[in-house]
Amino acid sequence: MPHPGLIVLRRATRELAVAVLDLIAQRTCAACGALATSALCGACESVLERRPRPACPRCGEAVLAPGAACPADHDWLRGIAALHAPWRYRGAAGAIVRRFKFEGDAAAGDALVRGLADALRGAATGVVRRALVVPVPMHRRARRARGFDQAERLAIGVAHELGLSFGGGVLRRSRATLSQTDPRVTSREQNVAGPSSWRGRQSSAAG
Ligand SMILES: [Zn+2]
Ligand SMILES: [Zn+2]
Repeated sequence: MPHPGLIVLRRATRELAVAVLDLIAQRTCAACGALATSALCGACESVLERRPRPACPRCGEAVLAPGAACPADHDWLRGIAALHAPWRYRGAAGAIVRRFKFEGDAAAGDALVRGLADALRGAATGVVRRALVVPVPMHRRARRARGFDQAERLAIGVAHELGLSFGGGVLRRSRATLSQTDPRVTSREQNVAGPSSWRGRQSSAAG
């Protein structure tokens, strides 16, 4: 029969091991940074605005039933076959984007990759399996200042998640744009219009 002290010690060791495992399992919320047991804490999860279902396959806005005609004119989507987005860019989703973009928060980056991959998964079938995931690149000066290219990181992650090819270096930014937070920027579309050109090079998904 083991010494009673030994049993107590074993139990204490087991409890300590469980406590350490609990601590390792704790993550930080991708939107607010609070400790959380999943990607988002309960408060942020409750204010995350997911895209509606059923949705228009072209613009992602709500339609009355699957396959029903969308009332939007889609003029602003000229040249774009379909728009896929997991969440509306406000509330928790806006916070996730800002934490990733301006603080380089890895949990926020992971949440964005998973959200984008889930939004695209249904479309990444058939001929789209041969698609390239191409990020719109940052200007090299902006990349140097930030230390990383957020669109490139997301594109690599999404390509990896969906088993698609990553088209790194396919586009080259030919002029710098103002920061979206610059007071001189009145429209995102105007600010980013025409800064990229095709370079015709591609590489495979990393990892
Ligand atoms: Zn949170
Ligand atoms: Zn639509």
